[in-house]
Amino acid sequence: MAVPNKGRLNERAVELLAKSGIELGEDWGRRLRVAAEGQGLEILFVRAQDIPAFVSSGAIDFGITGEDMVAESGRGLEKVMDMGFGHCRLSLAAPEDSGIASLADVPDGARIATSFPRVTEGFLRAAGKRAEIIEVSGAAEIMPYLGVSDLISDLVATGSTLKTNRLAEVCKIMDSQAAMFASREALARKGAEIADVADSIRSVMAAEDKKYLMADVPADRLGDVQRILPGIGGPTVLRIAGNDGMVAVHAVVASRDMYRAVNDLKKIGARGILSVSIDRLVE
Ligand code: AMP
Repeated sequence: MAVPNKGRLNERAVELLAKSGIELGEDWGRRLRVAAEGQGLEILFVRAQDIPAFVSSGAIDFGITGEDMVAESGRGLEKVMDMGFGHCRLSLAAPEDSGIASLADVPDGARIATSFPRVTEGFLRAAGKRAEIIEVSGAAEIMPYLGVSDLISDLVATGSTLKTNRLAEVCKIMDSQAAMFASREALARKGAEIADVADSIRSVMAAEDKKYLMADVPADRLGDVQRILPGIGGPTVLRIAGNDGMVAVHAVVASRDMYRAVNDLKKIGARGILSVSIDRLVE
């Protein structure tokens, strides 16, 4: 499995693997290769840009990288799952005072600096635009200022980098986020193992914004409990030894609903309300 060794996608990818129980060890940051023996997995820390080529060539079976990287590589990889982080978009941008506000304003023959030449060229061709692509390996934002290009095509997340460089977004070329990709061959040979890793990560992601709520409630208020805690398949109801008037209810609750749920439970006479974090949720 390939994992970005640094940059924006590294931290969250490593966090999700660790939470999924994939043993990276303490010193993974200094190593290019970690054998997660318990899971029968070999993790290779490589540059996010290189992952599409390694996966496509069969050197590595699957990996996490940006959708933008896969698109730019031109390799036909299969997406196993969206990872829900690293959201950004590849956009065309022009100097704020250029008068270029939309794709229609981009003049024929415009010079566009980008580290995404393939995706940018494909987009412009499909839009019927002729442009000169100037490939740069980074810092595209400075190119119009230097007179190297008229526009840029670059990744935008919050838009603050564009603003700092007095550039304005002209149009979006593609949305991107981190995703897990595999080659068709790897899926044919090791599809079940790859799906196990993906499922494990999914279960961690599903649990992250939820809590497990437990409370003792008057038995005759169970109807209200079902209204307060719709949960996944409704709350679990358990008898409390030596107390026939009360029952224990357990439910998975979205973290954002906890404040309301606890207050509503208190109003119907609930006691001993407990909330705990969940490591995993497999529905
Ligand atoms: P922002 O200022 O938040 O719009 O971020 C833009 C800068 O961060 C550009 O230099 C991008 O190349 C880089 N960037 C933003 N999002 C990502 C991402 N998901 N992956 C890699 N680079 C990104």
